[in-house]
Amino acid sequence: MENKQEMIRVQNMKKSFGQVEVLRDITLQVNKGEVVVLIGASGSGKSTLIRCINFLETKSGGEIFIEGKSIDPKKDDLTKVRQKVGMVFQHFNLFPHKTVLENIMEAPLIAKKADKEETKQEALRLLQKVGLSDKSNVYPSSLSGGQKQRVAIARSLAMKPEIMLFDEPTSALDPELVGEVLETMKQLAQEGMTMIIVTHEMGFAKEVADWVAFMNQGRIVEMARPQEIFNNPKEERTREFLNRVL
Ligand code: ADP
Ligand code: MG
Repeated sequence: MENKQEMIRVQNMKKSFGQVEVLRDITLQVNKGEVVVLIGASGSGKSTLIRCINFLETKSGGEIFIEGKSIDPKKDDLTKVRQKVGMVFQHFNLFPHKTVLENIMEAPLIAKKADKEETKQEALRLLQKVGLSDKSNVYPSSLSGGQKQRVAIARSLAMKPEIMLFDEPTSALDPELVGEVLETMKQLAQEGMTMIIVTHEMGFAKEVADWVAFMNQGRIVEMARPQEIFNNPKEERTREFLNRVL
């Protein structure tokens, strides 16, 4: 593909918590429509990296560009940035006292002051997209974990993000519910959504990722095409990690 449009660029980013350097020198670019899967051992910095990209954490150094614009958390409106960069977490955090439909409508109504009827139609469309049309009027407590996570994805999409970040979206799910969530994410990828996904689902990474980035001790050790990473990793640390998890 020619004319790549840069959506996210992280340049020499560092992040410390107190004295502890958690991200050491992260440089990463994600172009429009690309899916990057982040893999690596627990504690390697995956969550911190995507939280920094969504400005839930404040980087200690380096730069983050969203759609080519360097974002300064002190000057820029982070609410606007987060509308562009949606995030889905391991735990869905749906509002328990609101119906599925109300959960999806909440952010556009409050943050964007969107039109109520339009927002409702859009929410219904998103519910259909994640395969939960029949659940619009139920409360989250009556849903399975996989259904809750699909609602969480729909809720995030309701803000019409340009980029979606996922932090282990299936890790809290019973094994039999993982597939439906991965399928929803795969569908999003096929529609051209730009995504960074932290996951331990290596089959998904092989199938859906344009790029796989392996993180170790706060660095991206290696980033390559999935077949390269899984069949012929350049770095010994990548090989060791894959031998442990595959
Ligand atoms: P991963 O998602 O790859 O498991 P994390 O980004 O969660 O890794 O964590 C990387 C390191 O940063 C870990 O050593 C973790 O203990 C530390 N860390 C993460 N968040 C905080 C925090 N809020 N305060 C202090 N240390 C943190
Ligand atoms: Mg994590």
